Amino acid sequence: MSGQVRALNLIAGEWCGAADGQTIAVRDPATDEVITEVPRATVADISRAVDAAAAAFPTWSRLAAPERRRVLRRVVDLVESHSEELARLVTAENGKPLTEARAEVAYGLGFLDFAADEACRVYGETIPASTAAKRIFVTRQPVGVTAAITPWNFPFAMITRKLGPALATGCTQVVKPAAQTPLTALHLAGLLVEAGVPAGVVNVVTTGGPAFGATVLADPRVRKVSFTGSTEVGQWLVARSAANMTRLSLELGGQAPLIVLDDADLDVAVAGAIRAKFRNTGQSCIAANRMYVAAAVYDEFCRRFAAAAAQLSLGAGSTDPDVGPLIDDAAVDKVAQHVDDAIAKGGTLLCGGKVRDFPSRTNRFFEPTVIRDATDDMLVFTEETFGPLAAISPFRTDEEAVTRANSLPFGLAAYVFGRDATRLLTVVENLESGVVGVNDGAPSTPQAPFGGMRLSGIGREGGRYVMDEYLETKYISYGMA
Ligand code: NAP
Repeated sequence: MSGQVRALNLIAGEWCGAADGQTIAVRDPATDEVITEVPRATVADISRAVDAAAAAFPTWSRLAAPERRRVLRRVVDLVESHSEELARLVTAENGKPLTEARAEVAYGLGFLDFAADEACRVYGETIPASTAAKRIFVTRQPVGVTAAITPWNFPFAMITRKLGPALATGCTQVVKPAAQTPLTALHLAGLLVEAGVPAGVVNVVTTGGPAFGATVLADPRVRKVSFTGSTEVGQWLVARSAANMTRLSLELGGQAPLIVLDDADLDVAVAGAIRAKFRNTGQSCIAANRMYVAAAVYDEFCRRFAAAAAQLSLGAGSTDPDVGPLIDDAAVDKVAQHVDDAIAKGGTLLCGGKVRDFPSRTNRFFEPTVIRDATDDMLVFTEETFGPLAAISPFRTDEEAVTRANSLPFGLAAYVFGRDATRLLTVVENLESGVVGVNDGAPSTPQAPFGGMRLSGIGREGGRYVMDEYLETKYISYGMA
């Protein structure tokens, strides 16, 4: 794998190491083996990347929209033809099963594809003025230099979801992938260069912790930061953004409720719940954590869901199982803590509950775990678990299910399974959630507006909606002198 990995940063069209030569080791979560090392960019390196993005902005932003679309189309074609190696890189550094890595690359490609066409649909408006002596024109223009900060759980798609619309609108960008999964980003950077994205339009720097966020938010040339990650870091960025009034998009954590109404088709509900819970080994921001099931079908759902979870295969992502290793030891500790807490508080373990041993592998293979009779005071019902643990609790009325679903300050995704359209719509309308899957355990798709309410974030990514995040609105009051 390391032979095809580019392990340098891209700044102003040049491949470079950190100014002080420091590096970060990138490890395979399944074995802990070092795949390669990447630069630990310094504050000076980050500032140089902002210099490059600022220098590239005037030319890139003035390029005719069809020209930018042409460049993005070349990117799409090239990325598509390198999909398989990108997917293998995702599996190597993140650990996810190969089938899921391929799905992530296809999903991520969808953002670039959609954005390419949207480049030509940035429309303005004319508004009737209050007097015949004036005209009012509304125009949209790119915000300027932008920065993207992305997490390790979707190393490819979380970047393209930001990069595509930034390039389409005429913005330039400095990208910082998570230190645990920088290789996909660096490989993508190489493809951008090959596709003819001009030097400085996209810069990719690898570093860890707060240095990047602090540097870009202190720099008045950076007009927007798009962040996907934890709510805690999102709040830190909000506080820091005050200095320059930097625009923020925040795609933050979730704690998704999943509701099964008493008229649901249980085959559909179980299949949807398995997907909503165990995709990406439960390390997804829209992973269902809290399952609320109508009392009338509770025992049957628990039995069938646990049987399906117990069937899921577990192994290294490269062997393409259903569920892979967790990203690191801290993630394993958190899942184990949630399991122990749930059992101590009266939950009943139906399957899993522990790490499975594999020879010459890490201790990060947590078995798909199901706990029934969960209560609202359990950690699994209050915190994002980010692992393959599902907890189930019965409810008596639809109103009770909605009240409990809305009881946490998060509002990213929710799921509801049922048949009666009026009941389903009533539940959906009352859920405080940016995304709702109805009889659908996998709602994410590039053309839809993805994002959260409350502590799950600000702004939307995907489809035409994300374009607004990268555009300023200007109105011109034009006197007919
Ligand atoms: P994280 O710890 O918040 O890290 C996300 C990114 O922020 C990484 O690149 C990280 O860098 C960087 N970072 C860390 N501390 C920072 C700081 N003080 N200032 C600026 N940047 C900083 O989140 P994570 O553990 O990688 O990702 C999991 C979280 O992301 C979960 O809560 C999940 O729900 C959320 N998520 C949300 C969405 C969504 O669309 N809403 C999608 C995916 C994931 P280093 O890692 O290099 O230190």
